[in-house]
Amino acid sequence: MRLEHAPMELSLIRSPQLEEIVPTKWFNILPILPEQLPPPLKPSGEPVKPRDLEPLFPRSLIEQEFSTEKYVRIPDEVREAYIEIGRPTPLLRARRLEKLLGTPAKIYFKYEGVTPTGSHKVNTAIAQAYYNHAEGVERLTTETGAGQWGSALALATAFFGLKLRVYMVRISYEQKPYRRILMELYGAEVIPSPSPYTKSGRSILEKDPDNPGSLGIAISEAIEDALSRDDTKYSLGSVLNHVLLHQTVIGLEAKSQLELIGEENPDLVIGCVGGGSNFAGLAYPFMEDRLKGKSNTRFIAVEPKAVPTMTKGVYAYDYGDTARLTPLLKMHTLGHDYTPPPIHAGGLRYHGVAPTLSILVNHGIVEPVAYSQLEVFKAAQLFAQTEGIVPAPESAHAVKAVIDEALKAKKQGEKKIILFNLSGHGLLDLKGYQDYLEGKLVDTGPNKVNLKNLPRIQEKLV
Ligand SMILES: *Cc1c(COP(=O)(O)O)cnc(C)c1O
Repeated sequence: MRLEHAPMELSLIRSPQLEEIVPTKWFNILPILPEQLPPPLKPSGEPVKPRDLEPLFPRSLIEQEFSTEKYVRIPDEVREAYIEIGRPTPLLRARRLEKLLGTPAKIYFKYEGVTPTGSHKVNTAIAQAYYNHAEGVERLTTETGAGQWGSALALATAFFGLKLRVYMVRISYEQKPYRRILMELYGAEVIPSPSPYTKSGRSILEKDPDNPGSLGIAISEAIEDALSRDDTKYSLGSVLNHVLLHQTVIGLEAKSQLELIGEENPDLVIGCVGGGSNFAGLAYPFMEDRLKGKSNTRFIAVEPKAVPTMTKGVYAYDYGDTARLTPLLKMHTLGHDYTPPPIHAGGLRYHGVAPTLSILVNHGIVEPVAYSQLEVFKAAQLFAQTEGIVPAPESAHAVKAVIDEALKAKKQGEKKIILFNLSGHGLLDLKGYQDYLEGKLVDTGPNKVNLKNLPRIQEKLV
Protein backbone atom coordinates (compact mmCIF):
# COMPACT_ATOMS: atom_id res chain seq x y z
CA MET A 1 0.00 0.00 0.00
CA ARG A 2 1.28 3.47 -0.90
CA LEU A 3 0.66 6.13 1.67
CA GLU A 4 2.79 9.02 0.45
CA HIS A 5 -0.02 10.63 -1.61
CA ALA A 6 -2.68 10.14 0.99
CA PRO A 7 -4.02 13.27 2.69
CA MET A 8 -2.78 13.49 6.24
CA GLU A 9 -6.11 12.90 7.80
CA LEU A 10 -6.69 11.17 11.05
CA SER A 11 -9.33 9.00 9.44
CA LEU A 12 -6.69 7.36 7.25
CA ILE A 13 -4.56 6.42 10.19
CA ARG A 14 -7.45 5.33 12.39
CA SER A 15 -10.21 3.49 10.63
CA PRO A 16 -13.31 5.62 9.90
CA GLN A 17 -15.54 2.75 11.04
CA LEU A 18 -13.84 2.93 14.40
CA GLU A 19 -14.43 6.67 14.69
CA GLU A 20 -18.14 6.20 14.04
CA ILE A 21 -18.38 4.45 17.40
CA VAL A 22 -17.55 7.73 19.17
CA PRO A 23 -20.99 9.22 19.90
CA THR A 24 -22.10 12.66 18.71
CA LYS A 25 -24.25 13.24 21.82
CA TRP A 26 -23.88 12.65 25.53
CA PHE A 27 -26.70 10.94 27.45
CA ASN A 28 -28.37 12.84 30.30
CA ILE A 29 -29.95 10.78 33.10
CA LEU A 30 -31.79 13.76 34.67
CA PRO A 31 -35.07 13.55 32.70
CA ILE A 32 -35.51 9.82 33.33
CA LEU A 33 -34.62 9.65 37.04
CA PRO A 34 -37.29 7.89 39.14
CA GLU A 35 -37.77 11.11 41.10
CA GLN A 36 -36.87 14.74 40.57
CA LEU A 37 -33.36 15.67 41.61
CA PRO A 38 -33.42 17.80 44.80
CA PRO A 39 -31.94 21.17 43.80
CA PRO A 40 -28.55 22.36 45.03
CA LEU A 41 -29.09 24.75 47.93
CA LYS A 42 -27.37 27.77 49.41
CA PRO A 43 -26.48 27.43 53.10
CA SER A 44 -29.53 29.64 53.78
CA GLY A 45 -31.75 26.93 52.30
CA GLU A 46 -32.66 28.78 49.10
CA PRO A 47 -32.20 26.87 45.83
CA VAL A 48 -29.06 27.79 43.90
CA LYS A 49 -29.92 29.57 40.66
CA PRO A 50 -27.79 29.02 37.55
CA ARG A 51 -26.62 32.65 37.82
CA ASP A 52 -25.18 31.96 41.30
CA LEU A 53 -22.69 29.54 39.79
CA GLU A 54 -21.28 31.93 37.18
CA PRO A 55 -18.26 33.00 39.24
CA LEU A 56 -17.20 29.34 39.27
CA PHE A 57 -18.21 27.78 35.96
CA PRO A 58 -18.77 28.90 32.34
CA ARG A 59 -22.42 29.30 31.28
CA SER A 60 -22.48 26.29 28.96
CA LEU A 61 -21.44 23.95 31.78
CA ILE A 62 -23.99 25.51 34.16
CA GLU A 63 -26.65 24.96 31.50
CA GLN A 64 -25.61 21.31 31.28
CA GLU A 65 -25.68 21.03 35.07
CA PHE A 66 -29.40 21.89 35.07
CA SER A 67 -30.33 20.49 31.63
CA THR A 68 -33.31 18.16 31.32
CA GLU A 69 -32.68 17.32 27.64
CA LYS A 70 -32.11 13.61 27.21
CA TYR A 71 -29.23 14.12 24.78
CA VAL A 72 -26.65 16.92 24.65
CA ARG A 73 -24.67 17.46 21.44
CA ILE A 74 -20.91 16.92 21.71
CA PRO A 75 -19.13 19.89 20.07
CA ASP A 76 -17.07 18.83 17.01
CA GLU A 77 -13.84 20.07 18.63
CA VAL A 78 -14.48 17.88 21.68
CA ARG A 79 -15.37 14.84 19.60
CA GLU A 80 -12.20 15.33 17.53
CA ALA A 81 -10.12 15.56 20.71
CA TYR A 82 -11.78 12.35 21.93
CA ILE A 83 -10.57 10.64 18.75
CA GLU A 84 -7.09 12.12 19.14
CA ILE A 85 -6.71 10.68 22.65
CA GLY A 86 -7.69 7.23 21.45
CA ARG A 87 -11.48 7.02 21.57
CA PRO A 88 -13.29 4.78 21.10
CA THR A 89 -11.53 2.93 23.88
CA PRO A 90 -11.51 -0.84 23.41
CA LEU A 91 -14.24 -3.13 24.66
CA LEU A 92 -12.34 -6.26 25.66
CA ARG A 93 -13.34 -9.70 26.88
CA ALA A 94 -11.48 -11.17 29.86
CA ARG A 95 -11.32 -14.72 28.46
CA ARG A 96 -8.35 -15.91 30.47
CA LEU A 97 -9.94 -14.69 33.68
CA GLU A 98 -13.22 -16.43 32.75
CA LYS A 99 -11.29 -19.63 32.10
CA LEU A 100 -9.33 -19.45 35.34
CA LEU A 101 -12.53 -18.91 37.32
CA GLY A 102 -14.27 -21.66 35.35
CA THR A 103 -17.31 -19.43 35.00
CA PRO A 104 -19.94 -19.72 32.28
CA ALA A 105 -20.29 -15.91 32.52
CA LYS A 106 -18.85 -13.71 29.79
CA ILE A 107 -16.81 -10.86 31.22
CA TYR A 108 -16.50 -7.73 29.08
CA PHE A 109 -14.72 -4.57 30.11
CA LYS A 110 -14.38 -1.09 28.74
CA TYR A 111 -10.71 -0.17 29.07
CA GLU A 112 -10.28 3.52 29.87
CA GLY A 113 -6.59 3.09 30.75
CA VAL A 114 -5.54 3.60 27.11
CA THR A 115 -5.98 7.39 27.26
CA PRO A 116 -2.72 9.38 27.51
CA THR A 117 -3.22 10.07 31.21
CA GLY A 118 -4.31 6.52 31.94
CA SER A 119 -7.90 6.96 33.12
CA HIS A 120 -11.41 8.01 32.15
CA LYS A 121 -11.02 11.48 33.71
CA VAL A 122 -9.80 13.10 30.51
CA ASN A 123 -13.30 12.59 28.98
CA THR A 124 -14.73 15.42 31.06
CA ALA A 125 -11.44 17.36 31.30
CA ILE A 126 -11.46 17.89 27.53
CA ALA A 127 -15.08 19.03 27.51
CA GLN A 128 -14.56 21.39 30.46
CA ALA A 129 -11.40 22.94 29.01
CA TYR A 130 -13.16 23.39 25.67
CA TYR A 131 -16.19 25.21 27.10
CA ASN A 132 -14.08 27.42 29.36
CA HIS A 133 -11.85 28.37 26.45
CA ALA A 134 -14.88 29.01 24.21
CA GLU A 135 -16.24 31.49 26.80
CA GLY A 136 -12.97 33.39 27.12
CA VAL A 137 -11.73 31.96 30.41
CA GLU A 138 -7.92 32.08 30.56
CA ARG A 139 -7.06 30.17 33.68
CA LEU A 140 -8.53 27.23 35.62
CA THR A 141 -7.98 25.96 39.14
CA THR A 142 -8.70 22.54 40.47
CA GLU A 143 -7.75 20.06 43.18
CA THR A 144 -6.27 16.61 42.87
CA GLY A 145 -5.58 13.72 45.23
CA ALA A 146 -3.28 11.14 43.72
CA GLY A 147 -3.11 13.21 40.52
CA GLN A 148 -5.41 11.39 38.08
CA TRP A 149 -7.78 14.30 37.75
CA GLY A 150 -5.02 16.92 37.82
CA SER A 151 -3.08 15.25 35.02
CA ALA A 152 -6.23 14.84 32.89
CA LEU A 153 -7.07 18.52 33.25
CA ALA A 154 -3.41 19.49 32.69
CA LEU A 155 -3.51 17.71 29.33
CA ALA A 156 -6.89 19.19 28.39
CA THR A 157 -5.83 22.75 29.26
CA ALA A 158 -2.67 22.24 27.21
CA PHE A 159 -4.88 21.24 24.24
CA PHE A 160 -7.05 24.36 24.50
CA GLY A 161 -4.42 26.89 25.57
CA LEU A 162 -5.53 27.59 29.16
CA LYS A 163 -3.38 28.08 32.26
CA LEU A 164 -3.96 25.68 35.12
CA ARG A 165 -3.15 25.69 38.80
CA VAL A 166 -3.65 22.38 40.63
CA TYR A 167 -3.92 22.21 44.43
CA MET A 168 -2.57 18.76 45.17
CA VAL A 169 -3.18 17.06 48.52
CA ARG A 170 0.20 17.52 50.28
CA ILE A 171 0.73 13.91 51.28
CA SER A 172 0.29 12.79 47.66
CA TYR A 173 2.47 15.67 46.43
CA GLU A 174 5.26 14.36 48.62
CA GLN A 175 4.70 10.62 48.24
CA LYS A 176 3.53 10.31 44.65
CA PRO A 177 5.84 12.46 42.51
CA TYR A 178 5.12 10.88 39.11
CA ARG A 179 1.71 12.34 38.40
CA ARG A 180 2.91 15.70 39.72
CA ILE A 181 5.74 15.54 37.19
CA LEU A 182 3.24 14.59 34.47
CA MET A 183 1.11 17.64 35.32
CA GLU A 184 4.17 19.91 35.25
CA LEU A 185 5.28 18.37 31.99
CA TYR A 186 1.92 19.30 30.45
CA GLY A 187 2.49 22.86 31.71
CA ALA A 188 0.38 23.06 34.86
CA GLU A 189 1.41 24.73 38.11
CA VAL A 190 1.14 22.27 41.01
CA ILE A 191 0.86 23.53 44.60
CA PRO A 192 0.87 21.30 47.68
CA SER A 193 -2.32 21.83 49.70
CA PRO A 194 -2.87 23.22 52.33
CA SER A 195 -0.91 26.14 50.88
CA PRO A 196 -0.14 29.70 52.00
CA TYR A 197 -1.85 31.06 48.83
CA THR A 198 -5.40 31.01 50.21
CA LYS A 199 -7.20 31.98 53.41
CA SER A 200 -8.49 28.43 53.94
CA GLY A 201 -4.98 27.04 53.44
CA ARG A 202 -3.36 29.60 55.77
CA SER A 203 -5.87 29.05 58.55
CA ILE A 204 -5.12 25.31 58.53
CA LEU A 205 -1.34 25.79 58.35
CA GLU A 206 -1.39 28.19 61.30
CA LYS A 207 -2.92 25.53 63.52
CA ASP A 208 -1.12 22.57 61.98
CA PRO A 209 1.97 23.32 59.83
CA ASP A 210 2.39 19.62 58.99
CA ASN A 211 -1.20 19.02 57.92
CA PRO A 212 -1.14 16.26 55.25
CA GLY A 213 -4.07 17.82 53.39
CA SER A 214 -7.27 16.29 52.06
CA LEU A 215 -9.40 16.50 48.95
CA GLY A 216 -11.90 18.65 50.84
CA ILE A 217 -9.21 21.19 51.78
CA ALA A 218 -7.78 21.25 48.25
CA ILE A 219 -11.25 21.89 46.79
CA SER A 220 -11.68 24.82 49.19
CA GLU A 221 -8.37 26.30 48.06
CA ALA A 222 -9.08 25.86 44.35
CA ILE A 223 -12.52 27.48 44.71
CA GLU A 224 -11.18 30.40 46.76
CA ASP A 225 -8.47 31.00 44.15
CA ALA A 226 -11.00 30.96 41.27
CA LEU A 227 -13.37 33.33 43.12
CA SER A 228 -10.55 35.82 43.71
CA ARG A 229 -9.79 36.43 40.00
CA ASP A 230 -11.82 37.48 36.98
CA ASP A 231 -9.81 35.48 34.46
CA THR A 232 -10.15 32.21 36.38
CA LYS A 233 -12.80 29.55 36.81
CA TYR A 234 -12.91 26.31 38.73
CA SER A 235 -13.14 22.79 37.44
CA LEU A 236 -14.34 19.64 39.22
CA GLY A 237 -13.52 16.09 38.14
CA SER A 238 -16.53 14.15 39.46
CA VAL A 239 -19.86 14.33 41.36
CA LEU A 240 -21.56 17.13 39.37
CA ASN A 241 -24.21 16.39 36.73
CA HIS A 242 -22.20 17.84 33.84
CA VAL A 243 -19.17 15.70 34.71
CA LEU A 244 -21.24 12.51 34.74
CA LEU A 245 -22.88 13.63 31.49
CA HIS A 246 -19.51 13.89 29.72
CA GLN A 247 -18.47 10.44 30.95
CA THR A 248 -21.47 8.78 29.25
CA VAL A 249 -19.29 8.61 26.14
CA ILE A 250 -17.99 5.39 27.80
CA GLY A 251 -21.35 3.62 28.05
CA LEU A 252 -22.60 4.87 24.70
CA GLU A 253 -19.50 3.44 23.01
CA ALA A 254 -19.86 0.18 24.92
CA LYS A 255 -23.48 -0.11 23.75
CA SER A 256 -22.49 0.29 20.10
CA GLN A 257 -19.56 -2.10 20.53
CA LEU A 258 -21.73 -4.83 22.08
CA GLU A 259 -24.22 -4.37 19.26
CA LEU A 260 -21.46 -4.59 16.63
CA ILE A 261 -20.34 -7.98 17.93
CA GLY A 262 -23.94 -9.19 18.19
CA GLU A 263 -23.88 -9.40 21.97
CA GLU A 264 -26.98 -8.89 24.08
CA ASN A 265 -27.58 -6.32 26.78
CA PRO A 266 -25.44 -7.06 29.84
CA ASP A 267 -27.07 -8.75 32.83
CA LEU A 268 -24.69 -6.94 35.14
CA VAL A 269 -22.97 -3.57 34.86
CA ILE A 270 -20.26 -2.93 37.44
CA GLY A 271 -18.03 0.03 38.29
CA CYS A 272 -16.11 1.51 41.20
CA VAL A 273 -17.32 4.72 42.85
CA GLY A 274 -15.36 7.67 44.18
CA GLY A 275 -17.64 10.56 43.22
CA GLY A 276 -19.50 8.36 40.77
CA SER A 277 -18.34 9.56 37.34
CA ASN A 278 -16.80 6.45 35.78
CA PHE A 279 -19.61 4.27 37.15
CA ALA A 280 -22.30 6.61 35.81
CA GLY A 281 -20.42 7.03 32.55
CA LEU A 282 -20.65 3.32 31.82
CA ALA A 283 -23.95 2.53 33.52
CA TYR A 284 -26.33 5.43 32.75
CA PRO A 285 -26.70 4.73 29.01
CA PHE A 286 -27.82 1.17 29.92
CA MET A 287 -30.26 2.40 32.55
CA GLU A 288 -33.11 3.73 30.49
CA ASP A 289 -34.35 0.24 29.56
CA ARG A 290 -34.21 -0.83 33.19
CA LEU A 291 -36.06 2.27 34.38
CA LYS A 292 -38.76 1.63 31.75
CA GLY A 293 -39.06 -2.02 32.79
CA LYS A 294 -37.63 -3.22 29.46
CA SER A 295 -34.53 -4.91 30.90
CA ASN A 296 -33.44 -6.66 34.08
CA THR A 297 -29.88 -5.39 34.00
CA ARG A 298 -28.45 -5.10 37.52
CA PHE A 299 -26.10 -2.26 38.38
CA ILE A 300 -23.43 -2.76 41.05
CA ALA A 301 -21.49 0.20 42.45
CA VAL A 302 -18.33 -0.69 44.38
CA GLU A 303 -16.70 1.37 47.11
CA PRO A 304 -13.96 0.79 49.72
CA LYS A 305 -14.93 -0.27 53.23
CA ALA A 306 -12.67 2.55 54.42
CA VAL A 307 -14.88 5.16 52.71
CA PRO A 308 -18.36 3.56 52.79
CA THR A 309 -20.30 6.52 51.42
CA MET A 310 -23.15 4.58 49.79
CA THR A 311 -23.31 1.60 52.15
CA LYS A 312 -22.97 3.46 55.48
CA GLY A 313 -23.42 7.17 54.75
CA VAL A 314 -26.58 9.19 55.30
CA TYR A 315 -28.67 10.74 52.52
CA ALA A 316 -28.59 14.43 53.35
CA TYR A 317 -27.68 17.88 52.13
CA ASP A 318 -23.95 18.41 52.62
CA TYR A 319 -21.05 20.53 51.43
CA GLY A 320 -18.63 19.21 48.85
CA ASP A 321 -15.59 20.62 50.66
CA THR A 322 -14.10 21.13 54.11
CA ALA A 323 -14.22 24.94 54.14
CA ARG A 324 -17.93 24.85 53.18
CA LEU A 325 -17.56 27.01 50.08
CA THR A 326 -19.56 24.80 47.71
CA PRO A 327 -23.35 24.78 47.44
CA LEU A 328 -25.15 22.04 49.34
CA LEU A 329 -25.88 18.86 47.40
CA LYS A 330 -28.31 16.18 48.50
CA MET A 331 -26.27 13.01 48.41
CA HIS A 332 -24.98 10.03 50.32
CA THR A 333 -22.32 11.48 52.60
CA LEU A 334 -20.04 10.64 55.50
CA GLY A 335 -19.97 14.33 56.45
CA HIS A 336 -17.79 16.99 54.80
CA ASP A 337 -15.12 16.75 57.50
CA TYR A 338 -14.72 12.98 57.23
CA THR A 339 -11.03 11.99 57.07
CA PRO A 340 -10.66 8.89 54.89
CA PRO A 341 -8.04 6.37 56.01
CA PRO A 342 -4.91 6.42 53.81
CA ILE A 343 -5.93 3.61 51.42
CA HIS A 344 -4.09 3.33 48.10
CA ALA A 345 -7.21 3.98 46.01
CA GLY A 346 -6.82 7.77 46.29
CA GLY A 347 -9.61 8.42 43.79
CA LEU A 348 -12.14 6.75 46.09
CA ARG A 349 -11.30 8.86 49.14
CA TYR A 350 -14.20 11.31 48.98
CA HIS A 351 -16.91 11.84 51.58
CA GLY A 352 -19.83 12.25 49.18
CA VAL A 353 -21.18 10.81 45.94
CA ALA A 354 -23.05 12.18 42.92
CA PRO A 355 -26.66 13.25 43.69
CA THR A 356 -28.10 11.35 40.70
CA LEU A 357 -26.33 8.16 41.76
CA SER A 358 -27.59 8.67 45.33
CA ILE A 359 -31.19 8.68 44.08
CA LEU A 360 -30.65 5.51 42.05
CA VAL A 361 -29.19 3.83 45.13
CA ASN A 362 -32.20 4.93 47.21
CA HIS A 363 -34.55 3.38 44.66
CA GLY A 364 -32.68 0.09 44.66
CA ILE A 365 -31.73 0.43 41.00
CA VAL A 366 -28.03 0.67 41.82
CA GLU A 367 -26.79 -1.86 44.39
CA PRO A 368 -23.81 -0.62 46.42
CA VAL A 369 -21.19 -3.04 47.79
CA ALA A 370 -18.02 -2.37 49.81
CA TYR A 371 -14.73 -4.28 49.85
CA SER A 372 -11.60 -3.97 51.93
CA GLN A 373 -8.20 -3.12 50.50
CA LEU A 374 -6.51 -6.51 50.75
CA GLU A 375 -9.16 -8.50 48.89
CA VAL A 376 -9.23 -5.77 46.24
CA PHE A 377 -5.47 -5.98 45.59
CA LYS A 378 -5.70 -9.76 45.49
CA ALA A 379 -8.37 -9.51 42.78
CA ALA A 380 -6.22 -6.98 40.92
CA GLN A 381 -3.26 -9.36 40.93
CA LEU A 382 -5.42 -12.14 39.51
CA PHE A 383 -6.57 -9.78 36.78
CA ALA A 384 -2.99 -8.73 35.98
CA GLN A 385 -1.86 -12.35 35.78
CA THR A 386 -4.68 -13.36 33.45
CA GLU A 387 -5.32 -10.25 31.34
CA GLY A 388 -1.95 -8.51 31.57
CA ILE A 389 -3.39 -5.16 32.59
CA VAL A 390 -2.49 -3.79 36.02
CA PRO A 391 -5.71 -2.12 37.22
CA ALA A 392 -5.65 1.20 39.04
CA PRO A 393 -6.35 0.47 42.73
CA GLU A 394 -9.69 2.29 42.23
CA SER A 395 -10.70 0.12 39.26
CA ALA A 396 -9.55 -2.97 41.16
CA HIS A 397 -12.62 -2.54 43.38
CA ALA A 398 -14.78 -3.22 40.31
CA VAL A 399 -12.59 -6.20 39.40
CA LYS A 400 -13.20 -7.73 42.83
CA ALA A 401 -16.97 -7.44 42.42
CA VAL A 402 -16.75 -8.90 38.91
CA ILE A 403 -14.88 -11.95 40.18
CA ASP A 404 -17.44 -12.47 42.95
CA GLU A 405 -20.34 -12.21 40.50
CA ALA A 406 -18.64 -14.53 37.99
CA LEU A 407 -18.19 -17.13 40.73
CA LYS A 408 -21.85 -16.76 41.73
CA ALA A 409 -22.82 -17.36 38.09
CA LYS A 410 -20.65 -20.49 38.14
CA LYS A 411 -22.38 -21.81 41.25
CA GLN A 412 -25.78 -21.22 39.69
CA GLY A 413 -24.72 -22.36 36.23
CA GLU A 414 -25.84 -19.12 34.64
CA LYS A 415 -24.40 -17.69 31.40
CA LYS A 416 -24.45 -14.13 32.67
CA ILE A 417 -23.07 -11.27 30.61
CA ILE A 418 -21.00 -9.01 32.83
CA LEU A 419 -19.78 -5.59 31.74
CA PHE A 420 -17.47 -3.50 33.88
CA ASN A 421 -15.46 -0.33 33.69
CA LEU A 422 -11.71 -0.70 33.99
CA SER A 423 -11.46 3.02 34.69
CA GLY A 424 -7.66 3.23 34.61
CA HIS A 425 -4.35 1.42 34.72
CA GLY A 426 -2.20 1.18 37.83
CA LEU A 427 1.27 1.63 36.37
CA LEU A 428 1.76 4.83 38.36
CA ASP A 429 0.39 3.14 41.48
CA LEU A 430 3.02 0.44 41.79
CA LYS A 431 3.85 1.63 45.32
CA GLY A 432 0.51 0.21 46.42
CA TYR A 433 1.26 -3.05 44.67
CA GLN A 434 4.73 -3.10 46.27
CA ASP A 435 3.15 -2.76 49.71
CA TYR A 436 0.73 -5.54 48.77
CA LEU A 437 3.49 -7.89 47.62
CA GLU A 438 5.59 -7.16 50.69
CA GLY A 439 2.67 -7.93 52.97
CA LYS A 440 2.49 -4.36 54.26
CA LEU A 441 -1.07 -3.64 53.24
CA VAL A 442 -3.50 -3.44 56.11
CA ASP A 443 -7.26 -3.66 56.01
CA THR A 444 -8.84 -0.55 57.42
CA GLY A 445 -12.45 0.00 58.25
CA PRO A 446 -13.91 3.49 58.17
CA ASN A 447 -12.66 6.28 60.43
CA LYS A 448 -15.04 7.88 62.86
CA VAL A 449 -18.06 9.38 61.13
CA ASN A 450 -19.27 12.59 62.67
CA LEU A 451 -22.56 13.80 61.28
CA LYS A 452 -22.98 16.60 63.81
CA ASN A 453 -21.43 19.06 61.39
CA LEU A 454 -23.92 18.45 58.59
CA PRO A 455 -25.41 21.78 57.53
CA ARG A 456 -28.33 22.83 59.69
CA ILE A 457 -30.55 23.06 56.65
CA GLN A 458 -31.96 19.55 57.24
CA GLU A 459 -33.59 20.75 60.47
CA LYS A 460 -35.31 23.53 58.59
CA LEU A 461 -36.51 21.16 55.89
CA VAL A 462 -38.20 18.67 58.22
C1 LIG B 1 -10.70 9.20 40.02
C2 LIG B 1 -10.80 7.80 39.67
C3 LIG B 1 -11.90 7.02 40.07
C4 LIG B 1 -12.99 7.53 40.97
O1 LIG B 1 -13.72 8.63 40.52
P1 LIG B 1 -15.17 8.51 39.92
O2 LIG B 1 -15.63 9.89 39.70
O3 LIG B 1 -16.03 7.78 40.90
O4 LIG B 1 -15.04 7.76 38.65
C5 LIG B 1 -11.96 5.71 39.64
N1 LIG B 1 -11.00 5.16 38.88
C6 LIG B 1 -9.92 5.88 38.49
C7 LIG B 1 -8.89 5.21 37.66
C8 LIG B 1 -9.80 7.21 38.86
O5 LIG B 1 -8.73 7.91 38.47
